[in-house]
Amino acid sequence: MPFASLATEIQYVKGVGPKWAELFKKIDVFTVEDLLFKLPRRYEDRSTLPSISELYLGRWATIHGQVGRIESKTFKGGRVMLRAYVRDGSGTVCLTWFNQPWIKGQLEKSSGEIYAYGQVKDGQNGFEIASPEWEAVGGEEDPEEFGKIVPVYPLTEGLPQKIVRRAMRAALRDYLPHVQDALPEELRRAEGLREVQWCLSQIHAPKSEPERQEARLRLVFEEFYYLQLGLALKRNEIHGEHGIAFPVKALMDGREEETLPSSTGSGLFAGNEPKPYAGEPLMTQIRRVLPFELTNAQKKVIREIWSDMSSPHPMNRLVQGDVGSGKTAVAICAMLTAVRSGYQAAIMAPTEILAEQHYINIKRLLEPLEIPVGLIVGKQTARERSQVSARVASGEIKIAVGTHALIQSDLKFAHLGLTIVDEQHRFGVLQRKALRDKANQNPDVLVMTATPIPRTLTMAIYGDLDLSVIDELPPGRRPIKTHWKRTSERDAVYATVQALVAEGRQAYFVCPLVSESEKMMAQAAEDLYLRLKAGPFSDKRIELLHGQLKSREKEEVMRQFRTGEIDVLVSTTVIEVGVDVPNASVMVIEDANRFGLSALHQLRGRVGRGDIQSYCIVIADGKSGDARERLTALVGTNDGFKIAEEDLRLRGPGILAGTQQAGHADFKFGDLVQDGKLLEVARQAAIRTIEENPTLAGPKWAAVLKKTKEARGKASVITVS
Ligand code: ADP
Ligand code: MG
Repeated sequence: MPFASLATEIQYVKGVGPKWAELFKKIDVFTVEDLLFKLPRRYEDRSTLPSISELYLGRWATIHGQVGRIESKTFKGGRVMLRAYVRDGSGTVCLTWFNQPWIKGQLEKSSGEIYAYGQVKDGQNGFEIASPEWEAVGGEEDPEEFGKIVPVYPLTEGLPQKIVRRAMRAALRDYLPHVQDALPEELRRAEGLREVQWCLSQIHAPKSEPERQEARLRLVFEEFYYLQLGLALKRNEIHGEHGIAFPVKALMDGREEETLPSSTGSGLFAGNEPKPYAGEPLMTQIRRVLPFELTNAQKKVIREIWSDMSSPHPMNRLVQGDVGSGKTAVAICAMLTAVRSGYQAAIMAPTEILAEQHYINIKRLLEPLEIPVGLIVGKQTARERSQVSARVASGEIKIAVGTHALIQSDLKFAHLGLTIVDEQHRFGVLQRKALRDKANQNPDVLVMTATPIPRTLTMAIYGDLDLSVIDELPPGRRPIKTHWKRTSERDAVYATVQALVAEGRQAYFVCPLVSESEKMMAQAAEDLYLRLKAGPFSDKRIELLHGQLKSREKEEVMRQFRTGEIDVLVSTTVIEVGVDVPNASVMVIEDANRFGLSALHQLRGRVGRGDIQSYCIVIADGKSGDARERLTALVGTNDGFKIAEEDLRLRGPGILAGTQQAGHADFKFGDLVQDGKLLEVARQAAIRTIEENPTLAGPKWAAVLKKTKEARGKASVITVS
């Protein structure tokens, strides 16, 4: 029956027509299918019918009775107030309408027996219901919208609720029997999901609340399932690609020379001298360069990375760990593995300050091994840049550290084997791909993120990556003490900081978040700097850091702060990510109410990086309820994962992941906050499906494959392919 196709344009649904169809399009309903899958915004439970005597003030209720007297009163200016008294034998209630004079005629034409729904208010003569929804009983049809749970759809200006409900009823009657279930029966049975026709009927005309919930669950599952299938397929694709098999096992024994291409051939070492850093067992070497023993969590993650690196397929792994968990050391181990195997490694950081810090650190740690490290940032002079680029292109530089300048087109690598993206949440997924594309063959990819994203969101965004979690902090860390002070207590805060500085500690002050503009932020930092320098810290070495400074100036300030030549650093949020100065033990955040919870946690993570007691002091009056909740959560826990859950709850998923990745969390049916568990269920189901049928071949899966592709198209921000 072609006329019953779900692709039928909305205007052909009974009762719609071309005029309403235009308005339906504004709520994204173009076809019958769009309509049937349009979820109500909420429901009104009109299933119980109280008698009028049972009404009470404030109650939302449906009444059923006989219309008696109708009064119409016209005010100055032509506005009309309509009052209709309805009685049911137990009492009388007055229905009122303002400026809808035509209702009078409709009421008079009806049999007089009506249902009406609305909120009970106090009126002139007893209870009133203002602007009720109503329907007359009798005629050919039963009352459709009363005595049951009634859906309330999202609308657009000019489109009445009644019209949408009527169209939905027509669509359910004429088209629902033609809806095919995309999910194969065995999957539905395994997951305990109801069949799609039943679900749609319960979504739009629920028999009861539990049945409606069961129906919704299936639609949410289905949505999550397609997303997870898409990510799992993508993951499989990457796993199936040909990559570099790093000789990790040989490196462990210090025998890599045997496994590498010979130095006389056309291999990687062609023309190069044997490396002075070769020959020592990898683990011994790592112990020698790292000034500390790795934590068990770091070791576990490194083993996972090594297992990926030794496989002939590309690694595509996410390392998640709270601020201060020691991700850099993990990155260094991976890079050393690549370099010892004869490849180059690149690590990309989101800010110049962080890139510079990584550069200094990595260079210093690998100094004894004589591994050449290069820095590539945007603000280098053309000469510096071309020099370092040439050394990267020749293969002389083994480790390139940089900002997104690394992915600019003029930079070529000789044989890039490993790319690492630090603080991935600050980058778009496209940049991750761009860095991967720098290699001639599929490099191994490691992305690290400190923003502790709740697990639900991690799966939604990074489901194509394998996940490693560093779930332990280095030993000896003392939990940071966080205090929330009011602006009136500022002097006391300054006194605390003065005392800590007098003990030899260093302090950060973060200026108020005044705007998105770097210029205005620089100004705010400067104001704070001048105020502190003139006042409480006039006898201390105090410096200023913001994004408007020249690279050299930034480097110099950071160098001085790192070496302890500066006591107090006043900064914008440029220090939010990655910066690591263990002697800094106090972080003061001005106007903290303006920062998001994750940003506050990141900033706090700049202290507490050694074994000294550290403090985070947030200054805010916290007038708004939101700010109060954020600051209370910050003071309440140091656990980044808890903070992330809270941030997700407070702000919703879209904002959490940052603007660069916005859009991924736009689910039609599901809600990451509420349906987190179901996302996990859908992920497991998707993994099982792909294990059994890696390409979703066969007619049974055709509809699933189609929907998965559609979902992938929509979620292109996440699943760049
Ligand atoms: P992240 O990037 O995860 O926030 P970093 O890699 O900057 O953390 O490490 C934080 C601090 O902890 C650094 O000062 C680092 O030297 C130190 N650190 C890392 N791993 C260990 C460890 N296993 N033992 C002691 N200190 C460590
Ligand atoms: Mg870091």
